[in-house]
Amino acid sequence: MTKKSDQNHHERVVVVALAGNPNAGKTSIFNALTGTFQHVGNYPGVTVEKKEGKYTYKDMIFRVVDLPGIYSLTAFSVEEVVARTFLVEERPEVIVDVVDLTNLDRNLYLAVQMMELGFNPVLALNFADEARFIGQVIDVRILEARLRTRCVETIANRGRGSDELKEAIYQVAHSSQSPPSIIYTPEIEQEIGQIETLLDEELMKPYPVRYVATKLLEQDREIVRFVQGKIIRPEEFIQRVDGAIRSIETLVRDSPSIIIGDQRHGFASGLVREATVSSPRYDRVSFSDQVDAVLTHRILGLPFFFFFMYLLFWLTFTAGSIPMAGLESLLHGFENLINTYWPVSHVPLVRSLLIDGIINGVGSVLIFLPNIMLLFLGIAALEDTGYMARAAFIMDKVMHKIGLHGKSFIPMLIGFGCTVPAIMATRTLENFRDRVTTIMVLPLISCGARLPIYMLLIPIFFSQRFQPFMLWLMYLIGICLAGLAAKALRLTLLKGENTPFVMELPPYRMPTFRSVMIHMWNRAWLYVRKAGTIILLVSVIMWIFNTFPRKHVFEVDQQVQAGVTLTSQQIELARTNEKLRYSLSGRIGSMLEPVTRLMGFDWKITTSFIGAFVAKEVFVAQLSIIYSMGKDADSTQTIRQILRNKYSALVGFCVMLFALIATPCMATCACTRQETGRWRWTLLQFGGLTFLGFILTTLVYQIGTLLGL
Ligand code: GDP
Ligand code: MG
Repeated sequence: MTKKSDQNHHERVVVVALAGNPNAGKTSIFNALTGTFQHVGNYPGVTVEKKEGKYTYKDMIFRVVDLPGIYSLTAFSVEEVVARTFLVEERPEVIVDVVDLTNLDRNLYLAVQMMELGFNPVLALNFADEARFIGQVIDVRILEARLRTRCVETIANRGRGSDELKEAIYQVAHSSQSPPSIIYTPEIEQEIGQIETLLDEELMKPYPVRYVATKLLEQDREIVRFVQGKIIRPEEFIQRVDGAIRSIETLVRDSPSIIIGDQRHGFASGLVREATVSSPRYDRVSFSDQVDAVLTHRILGLPFFFFFMYLLFWLTFTAGSIPMAGLESLLHGFENLINTYWPVSHVPLVRSLLIDGIINGVGSVLIFLPNIMLLFLGIAALEDTGYMARAAFIMDKVMHKIGLHGKSFIPMLIGFGCTVPAIMATRTLENFRDRVTTIMVLPLISCGARLPIYMLLIPIFFSQRFQPFMLWLMYLIGICLAGLAAKALRLTLLKGENTPFVMELPPYRMPTFRSVMIHMWNRAWLYVRKAGTIILLVSVIMWIFNTFPRKHVFEVDQQVQAGVTLTSQQIELARTNEKLRYSLSGRIGSMLEPVTRLMGFDWKITTSFIGAFVAKEVFVAQLSIIYSMGKDADSTQTIRQILRNKYSALVGFCVMLFALIATPCMATCACTRQETGRWRWTLLQFGGLTFLGFILTTLVYQIGTLLGL
């Protein structure tokens, strides 16, 4: 292996690639090594793109790359291609193969393939805690001797063993041990030897010649193509290889690819048998199987899933409402403080910007932080136990019925957080049609930014008993609509075959406090940062829209002059309303009102939806700003009380429905454009969803009104 040296001759930069099966704990190892907090999840397919980080150890700098999870290097899926290309082209100095110690022989299969590629991976024997728990003991020294490398036991999610691992990486970076080679049966060895003599070592780079010869016998399409491009008389050469394959087939009555695969497995399991000191006392997998018999039951699985979801929203609601009320009164106290010490007549514009624009705008969004944290606490816990992978499994059948790929479920899960990373996560879908279908319907999966809207409106219009149910219902409506929309797309614009999908189910495990907390804090921090930046900015802009142009002559004054008797309070209120209507917001809102009226929205709600295009939370901010400006100065009513008096529950529901379906936010549109590469899909997504939202909300409002709700 070549060692790249840095321009700076005091320190060398060593590239370390982390590879391994999905769910073996690569990202956890990555975090333990680099001290960062990347997303880990107990289901396959979380890491799609490779992530990079750095650490220093002794006199060296290590650049760590987290590769997507793979079972083999045959380049069948996007993940395998990403991983194999990286290994072959970048030639990292050290590979750390993260293996699940409780499932060692299957995990070693990948290590064996890497050795054939000429690498000598350091093995991180992860899940050492679980291995110990089930009574499985491995003699690490035997493993090291046979594989000619370093092996380190780790418990990645707790950061155990990371110092030893760093030392092992350091040692391997300094050594130039070549990996052991796997010896196949004589019939195959003979043909490998023959083909090897025909290949030029220089030309075959970056692949070792023996690897190319073996892969040719296995008829690996990429390698065949690679060799054809390098060799002078490809037809003749391919005929030679075909001859070799046929002669093996006649000798051993099976195709070389099957025999070679079997022997690779045999090598791995032989090694494990040799190194095993004590075998597991009981099977962790069988415990998981027993639980799964109930939770992923053919009929009961789906009700269980919806029940767990309900539990999650119940928690978000009930437990979240206490700290939320606290934050709300804090905000109120703050507003009152300013109200008392800053007289209305003193620089009134700045005062209004502070109270109405900033405190009410940003504050109204911030008070939902506890709910956001609880929701993601729950999701993280469900993920870490391994239940979410089951949910994907249960939904797989449903997904196929509606024409979506089973793998689409993971982007959808991520979509509960935010649509943007969810769209990125569709990269695991190999088929373009599957991918576009998923992207198109992803905005219907209710993201974290819609939660404040629900949290503001649900307690206003629905009695306590129904509140968690309403929240659950909103999410459910989103999921069902996503399914229907996907089906519709599959029947029209994106017709095509379904590609099959096998989902790997990780065993159940206890979620760790640390990992759940990291997940929750990451989300909470994103939310606070968004409130402090984009929501703040848009709140100020909205305030400007609500304030200018300013009105100085009021109709109500003329009425008073004409003899109408009104209290001073009534006059003040009428003036503010006139001012608002005169402002830009008022004008735009009034212009659109004839249309949005059909859905039950007045111009105030309408303008709030305009800001929501930038970020959904702005809806809450803008509504709060408008009602804070519009209320008379010495009113003690909260926004909630004002809204309750002003709108019906039907309107409240319609607002939530429209917020759920229509107008995916700006960031989503940008991401859809980038990932599909077409404006066409972006416009269709935006227009289609807005139209759907309009039609459905109008229907609900009109029918609801007819029924007298
Ligand atoms: P990746 O798919 O290979 O990147 O795996 P992750 O790093 O996302 O880990 C998968 C799951 O296993 C997460 O829930 C981790 O918290 C958990 N995990 C990782 N390493 C260990 C370990 O050594 N012991 C235990 N008990 N859990 C682990
Ligand atoms: Mg990962």
